[in-house]
Amino acid sequence: MEDCLFCKIIKGEIPSNKVYEDEYVYAFKDIEPVAPVHVLIVPKKHISSLNEVSEEDEVLLGKIFIAIKKIAKELGVESKGYRVINNCGKDAGQTVMHLHFHLIAGTKMGEKLL
Ligand code: AMP
Ligand code: ZN
Repeated sequence: MEDCLFCKIIKGEIPSNKVYEDEYVYAFKDIEPVAPVHVLIVPKKHISSLNEVSEEDEVLLGKIFIAIKKIAKELGVESKGYRVINNCGKDAGQTVMHLHFHLIAGTKMGEKLL
């Protein structure tokens, strides 16, 4: 999608620090990390948010989570633990309207909403 920051990153039009890529998924380091490990996992298909996911994205969503698991292993945080976060919409603080999941690790996280 034109004018979408993450679509431009996926296409290589805007530089990123890539950590993983496959047919469905692109993952790169967050530009403003909140922890020693902070990776964004995005589908190559433009989907604005979790609200716009449809039945046809069933396989894609599975691929995203398989990728997250692989990245956690590759980055060596698999056994110590990590958090996966999706912000959907205004109240959650979503700032980029291209579905993405934050993989956060490498520190003991204290604050929990749930
Ligand atoms: P969210 O607030 O859930 O929409 O997350 C958007 C994330 O994208 C934030 O954590 C930003 O730091 C990150 N971000 C914004 N621009 C870039 C960029 N050019 N490269 C990497 N991460 C970015
Ligand atoms: Zn996009």
